Formats: sequence, structure tokens, C-alpha cells
Amino acid sequence: MNQNWRGALTRHLLLLLAGSLLLGLLSGHYAWALVLGLSLYLGWALRQLLRLQHWLQRAQADAEPPTSHGLWGEVFDSLYRLQRRDLRQRTRLQAVIDRVQESTAALKDAVIMLDRDGNLEWWNRAAGQLLGLQTPQDSGQPVTNLVRHPRFKDYFERANYHEPLELPSPVNERLHLQFQITRYGDHDHLMLVRDVTRVHQLEQMRKDFVANVSHELRTPLTVICGYLETLQDHSEDFNPRWQRALQQMQQQGGRMQNLLNDLLLLAKLEATEHPSDYQPVAIERLLQSIQSDAQALSGEHHRISLQADAQLMLKGSEAELRSAFSNLVFNAVKYSPDAGEIQLRGWADENGAHVSVQDQGLGIEAKHLPRLTERFYRVDSSRASNTGGTGLGLAIVKHVLLRHRARLDIRSDPGEGSTFTCHFPSSQVVRR
Ligand code: ADP
Repeated sequence: MNQNWRGALTRHLLLLLAGSLLLGLLSGHYAWALVLGLSLYLGWALRQLLRLQHWLQRAQADAEPPTSHGLWGEVFDSLYRLQRRDLRQRTRLQAVIDRVQESTAALKDAVIMLDRDGNLEWWNRAAGQLLGLQTPQDSGQPVTNLVRHPRFKDYFERANYHEPLELPSPVNERLHLQFQITRYGDHDHLMLVRDVTRVHQLEQMRKDFVANVSHELRTPLTVICGYLETLQDHSEDFNPRWQRALQQMQQQGGRMQNLLNDLLLLAKLEATEHPSDYQPVAIERLLQSIQSDAQALSGEHHRISLQADAQLMLKGSEAELRSAFSNLVFNAVKYSPDAGEIQLRGWADENGAHVSVQDQGLGIEAKHLPRLTERFYRVDSSRASNTGGTGLGLAIVKHVLLRHRARLDIRSDPGEGSTFTCHFPSSQVVRR
């Protein structure tokens, strides 16, 4: 190709020179003949340039280039080839983009792209159905203006997207959606929204079933336990063989009652997001009362100390907080040998308020810690049956803390003891 245009250029120059020489020979004015030749060549070159400019200006992708000879012909052809290649690449890219858009449009899940400030950039068809986003009106709008739920705003602004968020759809209360946000590129956000109505309904059915069964079992069990107590009061009238059986029946009846009470409490905690009574609760007074209950449970076998900030108050439900802290303290008593020391603490700092229960008991292996707050999870079933626990204590603690925007931190060394700390954010703290 290079050779071609070099040859053409040389040919043109040689022709120009030969023509000028011939004209000079005929006219005797070599200089004027050369000027004339050069002017003619310049005029021709300018005309080709104008044709090129004209072609480029109206350049439709497939318009044929002007025809020309020599160097200019080469230039036109090369430009035309470049243009065709560019067109082919653009068509291929457009096909890829179309396929991606078609496949995301076919998705049942909503896909939404947001910029670093949370303004809508692009979304698929499902986003319109699930969230009611409209093209093009909503483009550039902040997502928090369109999904106006306070929990979504909180979730989006906290920027901690490890766990997904579940909410009802803003356009259809009966749809339940799961929001999952991922950061990408230059702090942009990719938001995936799934319809989890069915899973939500199943979960609700499970909760209702457990709550209903627990409720229905309560009355018959109360009657059975009541009669067992009456029989126990007259145990001397029975054959001694039956006395042990009666005692065991009463003990197991008591365990079942505790289990039902815990299941009902969990069902109640799950039914709403926040406690209905949101009063300031004096932590020192609450811990003092739990301390004396724990002393009674321990039968004075453990040393239970208390150190709490007398000024500290937490916003929340006293009954729920009592239940959570009692579970932690009673566990410390249950899982500590006699003469073990248990420390209750309550304090506040710049991070919020903290309540901790430290024991020098059996401790827990690290592998159990992440699963400890699951329902019925037990480190060692023989340990649990001795203590008569229901396996729901820490699940209740976790739920109560969630409802008070708090979290549970567990540190433990087998054989050394455990520390359970409840961390409350500053927003929950009230100072006297
Ligand atoms: P349980 O009613 O069985 O005590 P929990 O949910 O309260 O159920 O506790 C779950 C498990 O965690 C218990 O079975 C026990 O093995 C372990 N655990 C809880 N608290 C302590 C503690 N202070 N020391 C050692 N193990 C503990």
C-alpha cells in the first residue's frame, strides 16, 4: 500500500517536471513553465481536498468515496476502508449491548444502577413493575425519593450492605421485596431487588404456626401441671413407687411450660419491629433487681457483683430488656461452677451504652460462637439437659437487642469463662 502511494506521488512529480520542461523548451520560459505546472498541480490538489471535505461532511456510513487517481485515490480508499471497519465494530458492539439489555430486561429481578450519590442512572423493566420507576421521568432522581421507606433510607445511608434488606414494595403492599446493594467502579451502586413474597409468606406461616401451637398447648399444660401439683401435695397417700414418677412428671411439665413461654415470647418479639412501650429504663435499678433474682437462682453459691452508672438510662421496653439481661445473667449462673464469680456492668461512653455479664465458668469453644444465638442451638446437649434450659435464651436476647438497635458481642475461652456484652448506640441512651 505504502509502495503504491509513493509510486503514484513520484509519477505525479515526474510528470509535472517533464510537462514543465517541455513547456519551457517550447516557450523558452522555464521558470514560468514550472510556476504554471506547479499552480495547475496545486489547483488539482485543492479540488481533491474540497471533494474529500464534501464527502466527509455528508459522510453517511455507506456513501461511496469520490473516485480519484494516484495519491488522492489512495487517500479516499484508505479512509473508506477505515470507515467500513469502524462501522462493522460499532454494529458488533451494538449487538452486544442489545443482548445485555434484552437479557436484563427479561430478568424477573429488578436491576438498578445508581451513581455515587444514589441518583438513578439505569434500570430494567422489572424495576418498573416492582418499584414503580418510570422512564425517563425518574432518571437522575435520588433513589431515596422513590423508595421512601425510612428503613430503606437508613440502610442506604449507613452504607453497610453485608446483609440484604426486606421491605414491602412501594407500589404494592402485598409484594415483599429484598434489596441488595453492591458497590462497583467509582463508588457507584448496583441495586438488585427480588420479589420474596412467597418466602416471606412461608416464614410468616411458620411463625404463626409456632405461635398458635404454643398458645393452644398452654391451657392443657397448665391444667396437667395444676393437677400434678395437687397430687404432689398428697403424695404421702400414694405408693412410694409413684412418688418419684410424680416428681419427674412435675419437673418435665415445668420444662415444657418454660419452653412454651419462651416460644410465645419469641413470637411476640417477631410480630413487631419495635417495642410498643419506649420509656427511659434506669439500668442500675434493673440490674440490681436481676442481681437479686440471680442470687436466689444460684442459692448463694456464686458471688455476683454489680457496677453500673447510676445516671445511665436506655430508651426501650423495661420488660424486654429485663428478659434479655436476665437470660444472660441466669446463663452465667447455670454455666459456672459453685463459688464462681459473676460481674454485671453497665456504662456509657462516646460509642453508646454497654451492659456486660462476665463469668468464670465453663466457657465456649470459638467454633460455636457464631451459631450460639440460633434457636435450640446448644454447645453440648448433656450440659443443657442438666441445667434445664430451653435453648431459646440467647435467641430471645438477640431479638430484644435488634429491637433496641443494639448488638450482642460474645467473647469466651473454654475453661476460663465468658463475657456477653450488649452494645447500644448513642441514640438509645438517655442521661438523667
Ligand atoms: P439454654 O437454655 O440451653 O441455656 P441459651 O440460648 O441461653 O440456651 O444458650 C445456648 C447455649 O449457649 C447453651 O446451651 C450453652 O451451651 C451456651 N452458653 C450460654 N451462655 C453460656 C455461658 N455463660 N457459659 C457457657 N456456655 C454458655
